[in-house]
Amino acid sequence: MPHRLNISELTARLARRETSAREAMQSCLDHIGRVDSAVKAFLSYDTADALAQADRADREIAEGRTHAEKPLLGVPIALKDVLCQQGQPLNCGSKILGNYRSPYDATVVVKLKEAGAIVFGRLNMDEFAMGSSTENSAFFTTRNPWDTDRIPGGSSGGSAAAVASNECLASLGSDTGGSIRQPAALCGCIGVKPTYGRVSRYGLVAFASSLDQIGSFTKTAADAALMTQIISGHDPRDSTSLNEPVPDYRAALGNDLRGLRLGVAKEFMVGGLDPEVRDSVDAAIRQLQSLGATVEEVSLPHSEHAVATYYIIATAEASANLARFDGVRYGARVAGSDPTEMYERTRGAGFGAEVKRRIILGTYVLSSGYYDAYYLRAQKVRTLIRNDFLKAFEKVDAIVSPTTPTAAFRLGEKTQDPLQMYLSDIFTISCNLAGISGLSMPCGFTKSPKLPIGLQLLGKPLGEPTLFHIAHAYEQATGWHLERAPLA
Ligand code: GLN
Repeated sequence: MPHRLNISELTARLARRETSAREAMQSCLDHIGRVDSAVKAFLSYDTADALAQADRADREIAEGRTHAEKPLLGVPIALKDVLCQQGQPLNCGSKILGNYRSPYDATVVVKLKEAGAIVFGRLNMDEFAMGSSTENSAFFTTRNPWDTDRIPGGSSGGSAAAVASNECLASLGSDTGGSIRQPAALCGCIGVKPTYGRVSRYGLVAFASSLDQIGSFTKTAADAALMTQIISGHDPRDSTSLNEPVPDYRAALGNDLRGLRLGVAKEFMVGGLDPEVRDSVDAAIRQLQSLGATVEEVSLPHSEHAVATYYIIATAEASANLARFDGVRYGARVAGSDPTEMYERTRGAGFGAEVKRRIILGTYVLSSGYYDAYYLRAQKVRTLIRNDFLKAFEKVDAIVSPTTPTAAFRLGEKTQDPLQMYLSDIFTISCNLAGISGLSMPCGFTKSPKLPIGLQLLGKPLGEPTLFHIAHAYEQATGWHLERAPLA
């Protein structure tokens, strides 16, 4: 059953010719056939193209190509519906793109393919990545593989649920305010939000350009290190991508944490935190100490303003980025008697309620007279939030916190109250505002029902090696990552 393996296990078996890429791909497709009517992670997938890619990988393996040269050779990996894959549908969980297909591959897709991956399948998401539950998808809601009455998190809910249910070995998502780490926490996988600029966004449909990053969902920390390794690096096609060498992230993996200094942010361990989440995170901190790390309290005094700041900056940028969906250039069009009426009808019919809410908020905070009071002030608070982190990182190598205040909530529980939904990202948002690195990993379960709990690690800018080091050591010591969902 190759779909149950992680990347390291599958590539080892492929190298020993114990299984083929075709068997691996077919095993994922069969499993999707068995469970996806319940999980609903995939919007679509192209079976013929997936198997053709698998056969190409098998030919390369037969010709002697090794995984040292192409580390993902024959590994099935799926994409959030916000990343371009040439010839495949691209909807961003929205109706407004109609039957649009991507004319080119995103840089991350080029890199996955160069590494030999089988890139297949479009994963469900909140429309234009706006949401925390996948309930804002214009198509359907993805379910949590641990309990299908519950949300998988969002906006990359499909990406998390697909990995947690073993429908693919890894996936990519995007994280603007928590959209990788929050669903990873709620579905029990490892989600990485790399440093701003670490991964090229060329071919990622923009939500909030000063916050967006692409990252991976995997079953282990070593796989997270490998995936991040492959997708990172400078790209002349993304002017915000950093021109910094990509270290060997797997070289950082070890089993002890001696000499490592961890910070616990006192502002993150207060009000609204579910007692079971708190207990699991406290136990994780003790475990990290027993592996040799020292722990001290740090303060992030401006983090209480993170959610408010985010919903000004993110909506402002979204209102500008989403102006391009006008019925002229992309996808669906609803005719009108003049261009203005055509725009109004197209956008009125094409966007869902949450996207409209964000565009209206964003247009408002950018409007003359309000710009200084909202947008400009939010940018100043953002600098204070970043400075809090930089100051904390003078004392510690990484900060630990819960990823989310509670485990997965029920479908429909927060749909009538956008503010409650926004607050589910309270611990993840400041990382994007500060532009630093972040990761979520499983650190335990609630008792009844059994639902995953996520531990968040926040690292310095380009501090990914430290995050992978901690995550790997913790995972080896605890084994939480080995627990599989009932639908896996
Ligand atoms: N849940 C947050 C929002 O709704 C974050 C989304 C994201 O990271 N894409 O904006």
